[in-house]
Amino acid sequence: MSVTKVRWLRTGSRESDLTLAHAARQLSRYVERLTGQVWSIKSAKAHRAGADTAWLGICDALPEPPSGALTTAPWDDGFAVWAEDEQLFVAGRNARSVLFGVYAFLESQGVRFLRPGPAGEVIPSLKDVTLPAEPIADAPRYRHRGLCIEGAPSINHALAVVDWAAKNRFNTIFLQFFSSRYFYNRWYEHKYNTLYRGHEISDAQALALDERIIAAMKRRGQVFHRVGHSWTSAAFDMPRSGWVTADDSEIPEEFAHFPAELDGERKLFHGIPINTEICYSYQPAFDRFVENIVKYAEEHPEIDVVHVWLSDAPNNKCECEECRPLSISDWYAKVINALSAELSKRAPNTRFVFLCYFELLWAPEKVTIEDPEGKAIMMFAPISRCYAHALNDPECTDGEVWERPELNKFSAPHSNAYFIDRLREWRKAFQGDSFDFDYHLMWANWRQCTDTLVARVIWEDLKVLKDLELDGIVSCQSWRNFYPSGLASAALAQGLWNPDDSWEDFRHRYLETAYGPHAEAADVYLARTQELLATDDPHWQKPPFSTMDGAALNEADSYLKAAQADLSARRKAETNRVYRRSLELLAHHAEFLRHLVAAYQARAASKPALANLEVDRAADYLRRTEARLSMYMDTELALRCSVDPHRTE
Ligand SMILES: [Zn+2]
Ligand SMILES: [Zn+2]
Repeated sequence: MSVTKVRWLRTGSRESDLTLAHAARQLSRYVERLTGQVWSIKSAKAHRAGADTAWLGICDALPEPPSGALTTAPWDDGFAVWAEDEQLFVAGRNARSVLFGVYAFLESQGVRFLRPGPAGEVIPSLKDVTLPAEPIADAPRYRHRGLCIEGAPSINHALAVVDWAAKNRFNTIFLQFFSSRYFYNRWYEHKYNTLYRGHEISDAQALALDERIIAAMKRRGQVFHRVGHSWTSAAFDMPRSGWVTADDSEIPEEFAHFPAELDGERKLFHGIPINTEICYSYQPAFDRFVENIVKYAEEHPEIDVVHVWLSDAPNNKCECEECRPLSISDWYAKVINALSAELSKRAPNTRFVFLCYFELLWAPEKVTIEDPEGKAIMMFAPISRCYAHALNDPECTDGEVWERPELNKFSAPHSNAYFIDRLREWRKAFQGDSFDFDYHLMWANWRQCTDTLVARVIWEDLKVLKDLELDGIVSCQSWRNFYPSGLASAALAQGLWNPDDSWEDFRHRYLETAYGPHAEAADVYLARTQELLATDDPHWQKPPFSTMDGAALNEADSYLKAAQADLSARRKAETNRVYRRSLELLAHHAEFLRHLVAAYQARAASKPALANLEVDRAADYLRRTEARLSMYMDTELALRCSVDPHRTE
């Protein structure tokens, strides 16, 4: 093997060149860590025959791969990696795909990108890299593979996750609102854990941190999504980046008629601007809503996809006589049509997302969506769905026949059959580009107290989403989601790319990577704890352990105690740092669950005060151990979803 240098082919596009240069640096850096060899890096104008070189470029600048020609595509990924005449080639449909090709080559050398940060990567020691004997050609099942910011991230968490995401072939990063301040402050204020000294960050500081995330994603060629809620209140000059409250007196006089009329009044919905709807039949409100978005897109060419969501609450829609003849989805269809036309004229490189959510889960009935240039992307958000069953699992139904709700009488069903029905109707109303905006890793994994059940749901969802006419997932989730096993995050990444493997094969392969010689022990532990956490509710709505009797609780405690001792002993004896960390997370999990079991044991013994004290101890344990685990566990969400439901008044 005689490659000694990397040459990446300039494209003339500043953005693409930035990503290709990054791909070249990544290749060189990891080869050095694998073998100690230093491959020099330069850009080049064109490919030249000759040995010793790794050539990186967009497919139209390189020879045709032996696996078949690639075509350039800004939205769709695909790459080929092959060797010929002592040269290595990495060709992609776009610059981002070249970077993905580099990671695929590194994986073929045994590298694994398990968890964010250098401590989560497996990098074997090699004498030399091996050029591929057969081409590695690959393309993803889904177009949209993304992470949406939620939870409580610091800037360091966020940057590590953006890097991990690219290494795991996600192509989309979504920053909610006009700035991510709301999310950063959950971390920086640290109200949930007084062991940390918290401080608030300002809008300007949050925007500066966002710039660092945006630079990191641009370097990786990621598709950048932004905003979401807040356009409704922005129409009456009260844009907000989060669910903050305000006073009705802050609504400017000239926009007094903009908010939706409810019970004869036009005011903020429960005092929250972004939860307030507007009166779409009032032309000045409609026009200003649309104009704000178009202007924002014009002023922010760095944004590829602007999210245009209505308010973040149900049962707040305008009751005035002029709004009543159309459903909110029909008014939304009018917004979509107006935006599609205006953006085509004024911001031709920006697309927009519309959201099917709450009442908007019901497709429009009267207004036809017109989007001749394909600017619109439909985002289906089944937020109240069940996360113990796959989306199309026929077992997950409440047996009801759902009628379109009357104005402001919406209630959200939990059964997945309901969402499948709504989705079918929407796909008749709109046949364009689409994805699932889903919440598997927002609350469900924390409520279930494990990530293995939801991992399987993700995998099964991804096997069928294409047939349901959804082209991927942008996952609305805490970015720190690798607890206790990381299996769910891996299932999301791998399933979005290629979900063809059987669940068992995928799970087995992941456990081998994460735990090495301890894979079988981890397998047993994760399967057994998932059994212990299950109740008699097939939808997993009841808190884990809450239906166990005293004898079963005692048995659970003995098992967890023994497992914790075994996992800790394995960790102490292990020298590989990746396996050590994986085992540490499992041992932590066992100890955490023992606190919850102790609470239910106290309750079974009719000692409610002691039970709540044990719940407090579970919370203290998470707070005390936060520093070591913060990259893998969102402690704020875990406290809210894994601990609080076990407390009684
Ligand atoms: Zn109205
Ligand atoms: Zn269910």
